[in-house]
Amino acid sequence: MRLLRARALVPVSGPPVADGAVLMAGGRIGKVGRWRDLRREAKGKPLDLGEVALMPGLVNAHCHLDYTDMAGQLAPPTVFSDWLKLITEAKQGWSLADYQASWTRGAQMLARTGTTTVGDIEAVPRLLPGAWRTTPLRVVSFLEMIGITNRRPPATVLAEANETVEKLSAPGRRLGLSPHAPYSTVPELLRLTARTSRQQRWRLAVHVAESALEFEMFTHGRGSMYDWLKRSGRDMTDCGLGSPVRHLGRCGLLSPRLLAVHVNYLARGDADMLARRGVHVAHCPRSHAYFRHDPFPLRRLARAGVNICLGTDSLATVYQGRRQSAELNLFAEMRSLAAANPQLRGRKILEMASVNGAQALGLEGRAGVLRAGAWADLIAVSFSGPLRTVYRAILEHNGEVAASMIGGRWALAPDWTRATSSNSPL
Ligand SMILES: [Zn+2]
Repeated sequence: MRLLRARALVPVSGPPVADGAVLMAGGRIGKVGRWRDLRREAKGKPLDLGEVALMPGLVNAHCHLDYTDMAGQLAPPTVFSDWLKLITEAKQGWSLADYQASWTRGAQMLARTGTTTVGDIEAVPRLLPGAWRTTPLRVVSFLEMIGITNRRPPATVLAEANETVEKLSAPGRRLGLSPHAPYSTVPELLRLTARTSRQQRWRLAVHVAESALEFEMFTHGRGSMYDWLKRSGRDMTDCGLGSPVRHLGRCGLLSPRLLAVHVNYLARGDADMLARRGVHVAHCPRSHAYFRHDPFPLRRLARAGVNICLGTDSLATVYQGRRQSAELNLFAEMRSLAAANPQLRGRKILEMASVNGAQALGLEGRAGVLRAGAWADLIAVSFSGPLRTVYRAILEHNGEVAASMIGGRWALAPDWTRATSSNSPL
C-alpha cells in the first residue's frame, strides 16, 4: 500500500480535500481522504507531492491521434464540405510511416498534458497494435468505417472491421467501431453496425449533426452538402426524412453504447430522444470554434439529462495562429468551453473532462474518479492557493502537468523523482 500526499485532493466524485492523500495498491486506488487519517496505513515511505492539486487523470473522449501532424495545415473553411475535400486531399500524400509518427506524437502530447485515457478514432487500423505500445495511455480504439456508395457492400466493410477487432482482441485492449458519420455512410452500414454492437456489446462512436449543412441535408434534403454528395454518387433517398439524430435512431444506433460526437445542431425532440436512449455526447470546444458553428446546445442537452463529455478532436481542426503551435490538450479544451459558457462552474467542466468521459467510454467507476476500486490514474498540477480556488486554478493550468500516473506507474514522474526512479512501479 503506497501513499501519495498533496496540498489539495480533487476527487471529482466528491468535494475537494485540503492536505489530502491517496492510498494505492496493485495499480488501483485503495482509499482517498485526509493525510492525517491515512498516514498510518502506508507501507513504505509516503510520497509527498507538495504544492499540487491531485486529481483523476483526464479522459479525452474523442480524438484522431493519426491526424496530429496536420496541425495548422488546413485553414478554417467557410463551407464545411470544403474542409472534407481538403482533408481527403491532404491524406492522399501521407504514408503509413507519416500516420505512425503522427499518432505517437499526439499520444505524447496528451500524456504530457494530463490525459490518461483517450477514445481514439482509427482511420488507419494497420497502425495497431504497434501504436498502442508507443504510449502509456489507455486507448479505446474505434475502427473507422466510411463508404458512400454500394461499390463496396456495407456487409463487406463491416466484416473487415469485425475481423480486425477479432484479430486485435486481447485482455486489457479496448476496441469499438466508428461508422464515420451519417453523410459519409449508407443506412445499411449503420443498421448492420447497430446489430453487431447489440450482439457483441461493442461500443460505437459516430460524428453526428456536426455542421449546419449536414443538418440541412438530412432534415430538408437540400443544400450544398446534399448537392455535392449526390454528384459523388451517394444514394440520397435517406435525406429529407428528419434530423441527423433521427436518422441514427431509424438505423437503430441510439443506445447507451453510443458516443455521439459533436451534436451541434438539434431538431425539436432530439435532446430528449438522446437522453431517453442513454446516448453520450462528446463536445470538442476548439474544433467547434474552428468551424464557427452555431453555439453548442449545452443547456438543452444537459436539461434533457444527456451525459456530456469533452474531446480534443484532431489537431487538423484546432486553429493555430502564426508562430503558434497547437497541442492536443484537454486543459485548453476546458478553457475554450469556459470562455464560451461563462456561467458554467469549474467543477462541472472538470467532470466533463473526467468522470463523464469515462462513462461515455464504458469505464465508469474505473477511470475519471479518485475512489476506492478505481484505477490509480492520477495527475497533479501546481497549486498553492486556498482550497476554494482549486477549480479555477485547474482551469488556468497551462502546459505540462507536474506528474501523471497510469495504473500506479508514472507516465510523467514528478520532477524530483525523474532523475532517480523514473517509471518505477509504485
Ligand atoms: Zn472527430
